[in-house]
Amino acid sequence: MQANPLWPVEKRFPSLQSDIRKDVLVVGGGMAGISSALRLKMAGFDVALIERDEVGGPATGASSGVLYYGSGTNLVPACGLFGEEKANKLWKETAGVIDEIVKTARDEAIDCGIRSCGSIMVGKNDGEVTEIEAEYGALKKLGLPGRLLSSSDVKDYFPLMGFRGGLAYDAVGQVHPARFASGVARIEGLEIYEQTPLIEWKDENGGVQVKTPGGLVRASDLVLATNAEPCFGMENHFELESSVILASEPTRRVRDVFPEEKIFWTMEEKYDLFYPRGDRLILELYALGEEENKLAYYFPGVEFKTEQQWGEAWSKPPDWIPIVGKVSEHVTSAIGMGDQGIIMSWLSGSKIPMIINGGSDWFTEMASPSRFARFDQGAGQIS
Ligand SMILES: Cc1cc2nc3c(=O)[nH]c(=O)nc-3n(C[C@H](O)[C@H](O)[C@H](O)COP(=O)(O)OP(=O)(O)OC[C@H]3O[C@@H](n4cnc5c(N)ncnc54)[C@H](O)[C@@H]3O)c2cc1C
Repeated sequence: MQANPLWPVEKRFPSLQSDIRKDVLVVGGGMAGISSALRLKMAGFDVALIERDEVGGPATGASSGVLYYGSGTNLVPACGLFGEEKANKLWKETAGVIDEIVKTARDEAIDCGIRSCGSIMVGKNDGEVTEIEAEYGALKKLGLPGRLLSSSDVKDYFPLMGFRGGLAYDAVGQVHPARFASGVARIEGLEIYEQTPLIEWKDENGGVQVKTPGGLVRASDLVLATNAEPCFGMENHFELESSVILASEPTRRVRDVFPEEKIFWTMEEKYDLFYPRGDRLILELYALGEEENKLAYYFPGVEFKTEQQWGEAWSKPPDWIPIVGKVSEHVTSAIGMGDQGIIMSWLSGSKIPMIINGGSDWFTEMASPSRFARFDQGAGQIS
């Protein structure tokens, strides 16, 4: 399976062909790497990024690009995980990140299918409807928009099935993240080398030396934004998840199924996602194996002829927070972006200059690699 064949990235970058010297080298051209490199450049660092294959390849290329609050859970469980104050901060800050991505894409006219279509989380039974009501209350308390939907309201948006209720998030957007990342890189004139893998690196003269097939890179700092690759033992602290996306052939039934352009998701931890994109029906599932059953379940009476199918793996720490911070004197990680990896990547990248300058804030304290020492000692709870 390849990264999204419907929305390929056309702009390509050269490979490294000589030795270079930089303040910071970023490794990995997904959303986390591009966001890091962009913010470093904006902060005045002389920065380059190397990418093993192509910018916007693996997870970022395959992604549905749904832009939603938080780091992958609902707000109510996040309050249990991180405490109410930190969860609320995370929701507020990610609400701002959604606005920023949408604004950047629109202002810079990046061809990345940006849309502020809104989404609906659907409840299948009374227990889920109770959770929806609690979630609505938590959002309202925080001043974030949300609308409770009855069963018949949901049917107006998705006539095929009888869900018990729903919660509409009108602020939710969607983007083709690989095209967004590549567009931002081009507009900002980021120095990027594709087909340039990091082969090995070592500490050298108060910095790092990185070997690539086309030349050596010397830098004071290295940022690893390599998603699922081993990273200073941090791989012991993330799991690999994977999702698959099925896209139908173009169909005139798309407006019968989705009278409005809304994204739907269910409430299981490994939720299903379904939405229209242009004249296609899209279904995203965790892992393979249940496609036929799920297609029949979500699209009863509709012929869903799968034209394209793709998927990828991404890394996810057990506490649903990325791993962002120093892993050695000269190396910073920006990995473990998880389910809400597009928003988390954009947010994490914005913190990298501060981390390299020795600073911290509430987010970098939550996301610090050092939190695993606390886990390892059995502390368990993130406080
Ligand atoms: C099918 C699917 C649907 C998803 N849907 C959503 C969604 O709707 N909303 C959302 O927010 N998130 C979603 N996600 C999750 C999100 O896409 C990821 O968490 C996010 O893209 C991770 O970004 P990244 O930059 O960390 O990783 P990647 O995009 O995987 O980037 C890492 C890069 O590092 C490069 N690399 C690795 N090793 C080296 C090396 N040695 N040298 C040089 N380069 C190297 C890789 O080639 C790769 O390009 C989805 C993911 C998938 C797979």
